[in-house]
Amino acid sequence: MTERTFSIIKPDATKRNLTGKINAVIEEAGLRIVAQRRIRMTQEEAEDFYDVHRERPFYGELVEFMISEPVVVQVLEGENAVARYREVMGATNPAQAADGTIRKLFALSVGENSVHGSDSADNAKIEIAQFFDASDIVG
Ligand code: GDP
Repeated sequence: MTERTFSIIKPDATKRNLTGKINAVIEEAGLRIVAQRRIRMTQEEAEDFYDVHRERPFYGELVEFMISEPVVVQVLEGENAVARYREVMGATNPAQAADGTIRKLFALSVGENSVHGSDSADNAKIEIAQFFDASDIVG
């Protein structure tokens, strides 16, 4: 089943000029980048985006991190794109991420972990809609 997922190349990665290297891993995994934009997230956008983590001790740090440098927001399309991208990203904590995954290759820590990917098809739709109009996505 062809589906779409939402991705963010996070500040630790854009700061180290890793956008192209991360996109290469995404494309080699068979996922197509059908929309992409470099933005500076506002505090409000970051707070809304991570609302589910509002009560977690790292929430403030996470929001500060996400607005600290530009990010690249993306829509990825492919066969089982949500699960496939989670696989390609690797575990949240890079110390536990499998070889060849983006987080194993590039992440610095559990917080500065280079990429975000939606955890379900429903969340993918909500997250894509937060950052893209339908006409921005060219499949
Ligand atoms: P993900 O779906 O793999 O991104 O992981 P989660 O949904 O559990 O967490 C969302 C994001 O919050 C992670 O990607 C990290 O950037 C951040 N995060 C999670 N746990 C921690 C933590 O213990 N400390 C800090 N600073 N950030 C964390």
